[in-house]
Amino acid sequence: MLHRIAHKHASLGVTPEQYDLVHEHLFAAIAEVLGDAVTPEVAAAWDEVYWLMANALIAVEKRLREESGGPGWRTWEVVERVTETADVVTFLLRPTDGSPVRDFLAGQYVSVRVALPDGARQIRQYSLSGAAGPLRQISVKRVHGDGAPDGEVSNHLHARVREGDVLELSEPYGDLVLDTGPDTPLLLASAGIGVTPMTAMLAHLAGSGHRAPVTVVHGDRSPAGHALRTDHEAYAAKLPDSAVHLWYEQDAPAGTHSGLVDLAGVPVAPGTRAYLCGPLPFMRAVRTQLIAKGVAPADIHYEVFGPDLWLAGQS
Ligand SMILES: Cc1cc2nc3c(=O)[nH]c(=O)nc-3n(C[C@H](O)[C@H](O)[C@H](O)COP(=O)(O)OP(=O)(O)OC[C@H]3O[C@@H](n4cnc5c(N)ncnc54)[C@H](O)[C@@H]3O)c2cc1C
Repeated sequence: MLHRIAHKHASLGVTPEQYDLVHEHLFAAIAEVLGDAVTPEVAAAWDEVYWLMANALIAVEKRLREESGGPGWRTWEVVERVTETADVVTFLLRPTDGSPVRDFLAGQYVSVRVALPDGARQIRQYSLSGAAGPLRQISVKRVHGDGAPDGEVSNHLHARVREGDVLELSEPYGDLVLDTGPDTPLLLASAGIGVTPMTAMLAHLAGSGHRAPVTVVHGDRSPAGHALRTDHEAYAAKLPDSAVHLWYEQDAPAGTHSGLVDLAGVPVAPGTRAYLCGPLPFMRAVRTQLIAKGVAPADIHYEVFGPDLWLAGQS
């Protein structure tokens, strides 16, 4: 869990000094809320735990920043903006200073830092959704508030960012990465915008001579809402041994399934490693089915596009 947090912190540009600041305010809040319950012994014990975790994170984050080999935040120009679906746009980006674009590990994300019209600066993470190369590619789903406020950054990117505009990006980070050889059977399962890291993984596999079976599983509201579908299927088709299984809640065309993803009829090769990305109920259901099919829990990896509440809820 700390490793995952460290990747997020590194992408956000968290510095060691900021742990002092968090410590100061967290402990003031603890004292204010718990009052007399915070005896000197309790305070000392919390302090010890805080610095154990903080020092572990500071060390990993330093290593991750060094390994990234990059300068940190850089400005990137949007060289192409592609409308994928009614709610998803893809941005292709190139460094404004012409410096080389480092490789990333398929499945990683970048942080995007934007200045909003009200002057606030906000940072969000977006998975790299294309093949490695001279451009970085992210695909952003516009988040509708449906009663709550609309998502700030996704709507800003949709409404205001066009070809020629400039965005600030971090180096790539993230620990949901393909770390297997060409002979490991894989299952890549996604739902909705969770397709983004899976598309990058398929691009990588297609270009790296992967030999073992690759099972692609994806669920979406409708074919029209399935972002990156062409790439998703085209990269899978380049693999020597792949099977694509698609589920749509509406308008499922021939050759696809109707409803929610259900692995009952999907063969899963022994020794399969699975990578999951999508809403939590989807990932819980897929994980349960994979374990029932004999996949080892340690071989099931996942990415959550928000706070990782899964670990907290895992029995
Ligand atoms: C590792 C990682 C990879 C990701 N990859 C992708 C990707 O490839 N593509 C992609 O589209 N997204 C991706 N995301 C999600 C992305 O980072 C953002 O979380 C997403 O774009 C929403 O950001 P936002 O600023 O638009 O929404 P926010 O403004 O952060 O709002 C988030 C939610 O909170 C609700 N909300 C806001 N204010 C209130 C309020 N006052 N009361 C009640 N509800 C409220 C909003 O309605 C919305 O549902 C990824 C996230 C992570 C962590």
